[in-house]
Amino acid sequence: MNEDALARKLAAEHSLTLEEYEALISGRNKDTALYLADEAVKVRERIYGKDVFVRGLIEISSYCKNDCLYCGIRRGNKNAERYRLTEDEILTCADEGYDLGFRTFVLQGGEDAYFTDERVCAVVSEIKRRHPDCAVTLSLGERTRESYKRLRDAGADRYLLRHETADREHYARLHPPEMSYDNRMECLYTLRELGYQVGCGFMVGSPYQTARCLAEDLAFIERFRPEMCGIGPFIPHHGTPFGGEAAGTLEMTCFLLSVIRLIHPPVLLPATTALGTIDPRGRERGILSGANVVMPNLSPVSVRKKYELYDNKICTGEESAQCRGCLEARMESIGYKIVTSRGDAAGFEQK
Ligand code: SAH
Repeated sequence: MNEDALARKLAAEHSLTLEEYEALISGRNKDTALYLADEAVKVRERIYGKDVFVRGLIEISSYCKNDCLYCGIRRGNKNAERYRLTEDEILTCADEGYDLGFRTFVLQGGEDAYFTDERVCAVVSEIKRRHPDCAVTLSLGERTRESYKRLRDAGADRYLLRHETADREHYARLHPPEMSYDNRMECLYTLRELGYQVGCGFMVGSPYQTARCLAEDLAFIERFRPEMCGIGPFIPHHGTPFGGEAAGTLEMTCFLLSVIRLIHPPVLLPATTALGTIDPRGRERGILSGANVVMPNLSPVSVRKKYELYDNKICTGEESAQCRGCLEARMESIGYKIVTSRGDAAGFEQK
């Protein structure tokens, strides 16, 4: 089958084989991309209408024990300025976010030993106590089953853990030897078992990524059927071993957003900050390719520049209200509207 036939098959059946995904990616052209974006938007609008969900992102710590080769806050980056928010600061961010209409908070950070189960549980349960109508999402990397269970019991609803790549060899080229593909995948299944709504995801255009790697990502998404899937372009950070590599493209990211929407129609798919960083209208283009979530930054402005995963990250100088307003206007400019519900995945009953 040529890419045209493959695109039509995907739109009709929501499924391709690994080889077919690979051929679709390698053979893609402007027409297949336009066709898939059109189909993806139709599918998305059937389920979610013109609604775009917002998640308030609170970056709680830039300390990290890991040394991922792509990431600006890797422990090996000795020039990174480190910070961590106090419990009070996190709660203040959430309170401010609540007043701005946010009903989902994402606490994200490096793998920082300071954030023990006890500390994270305390923050999570306090946010849930103050704002029982809100969902709390955690994105704190790999932890033990016991830890994930305690956080879940404390009230965490969702967990974002990008698988980064579903290709074992590729994983090994993006991470130091002490990090394990198997453990990362295992974490995702554990989180699901514990009743979290789970988000996986990967970077587009990371070094050594091939069409085959991306096909494996897509096949994994088809198998795993995550509630959420975060994809954004890889962007080099000057203080990492990949500092001189090329960034992923808007074109490829948008193409994959459309494909993922068609593979798994109800998936929550953010138009990421990284997409907005490589193109001034990247997030709008993401929504018009099938995404339905945006994640404005609620971190205190004083620390924003220090959570620098990649160079030239946008939204590091604005107050939360400005970020919220800016995204609202951007969504309106393309005929979409930001909604302030918890924004659970369709078909996922609130527990
Ligand atoms: N420590 C947490 C959060 C990681 S930061 C965890 O392990 O899940 C969130 C995501 O940012 C990462 O999963 C990665 O996919 C992405 N990221 C890191 N460095 C990046 C870069 N240079 N360009 C684009 N995205 C990057």
